Amino acid sequence: MSAPSNNRQADLQSPRQTHLSVVVPVYNERPVLPLLLERLQRVLSSLDINYELVMVDDGSRDGSGEYLVHLALASSTIKTIRLSRNFGKEAALTAGIVEASGDAIIIIDADLQDPPELIPDMLQAWRDGAEVVCMKRRTRAGETTAKRISAHLFYRLLNRISAVDIPEDTGDFRLMSRQAVDAMNLLTERNRYMKGLFAWIGLPTTIIEYDRAPRAAGSSKWNYFGLSKLAFEGITSFSVAPLRLTMVAGVLTALAGILFGLWIVAKTLMLGEPVQGYPSIIALMTILGGVQLISIGLVGEYVGKTYLEAKQRPVYLIRDIIQKQASARQSGQDAITSIKKRKINAA
Ligand code: UDP
Ligand code: MG
Repeated sequence: MSAPSNNRQADLQSPRQTHLSVVVPVYNERPVLPLLLERLQRVLSSLDINYELVMVDDGSRDGSGEYLVHLALASSTIKTIRLSRNFGKEAALTAGIVEASGDAIIIIDADLQDPPELIPDMLQAWRDGAEVVCMKRRTRAGETTAKRISAHLFYRLLNRISAVDIPEDTGDFRLMSRQAVDAMNLLTERNRYMKGLFAWIGLPTTIIEYDRAPRAAGSSKWNYFGLSKLAFEGITSFSVAPLRLTMVAGVLTALAGILFGLWIVAKTLMLGEPVQGYPSIIALMTILGGVQLISIGLVGEYVGKTYLEAKQRPVYLIRDIIQKQASARQSGQDAITSIKKRKINAA
């Protein structure tokens, strides 16, 4: 712990030494990209540090990828990673932090909902010793009340049933030290619920509150179906409570069934039975059938997860990485311009 702090003290004295990576996952964000780049560059260039922008194109179909390639060819501070198709934000982020080389890494959404102007504050918190700087939304402008309420309930539930505390109202907008990123890169699971993984690694965390802006352009890639999927992913990746719950439900239902059966036997013995019972049989069958189906579905969900993990498929595939290298740091001589192009098979 003392070594990084010493480095940071040194950083403070000569800020140029600080190497910051800003990772941006991009999926069909073409309209907002110029403004995003302008705001990011304005903030970063005012800071007097070394920085790189790691733009991860997550298989966009609106020309975002081509635009980012074009930018990377023009500027040595931009590194564009194109994934081979749309893998989803979690995979894009994973690719970005694996490829980022900074001592501090900031993750930020492309749609300007996370203001780049907060980057200096995040850096300061990092220099003050935080390994992770979590950005907590004070407000969620441009989001419906229904989304707000369901998000709140989801975090309450998730934190109640899982072992790690996943902070509410924090998104992926955060700074991570090299140590935190190295820890993240150790987590090789395929089902990546990033917020859960971020929380799982622990390390000293500072929380900064901010006001979340509405999207600058375009529309959210999430719909309710996608969000429910993410919520379910979060719960099943970080807790086996639902499995236990099914067992409890099963035991309770079975007990109730036994009591009900005993009662029917007693009743028949005492009062006789003029063949009725049709409604109760149907009711019991439906309830039990329902409980069984739910349990099988849940077990299936976990078995499916194991299956996906067992296949050991990479989280993402990279189509190419475009980076103009014009750094004296690398060659010690004249600026070299090259396009790095490669394919890798593992996360
Ligand atoms: N994103 C991505 N891949 C996807 C969906 C989204 O890389 O499959 C990126 C998107 O470009 C944006 C960020 O993830 O930079 C957040 O997406 P969005 O704004 O749609 O989510 P929200 O802010 O509504 O949670
Ligand atoms: Mg957004």
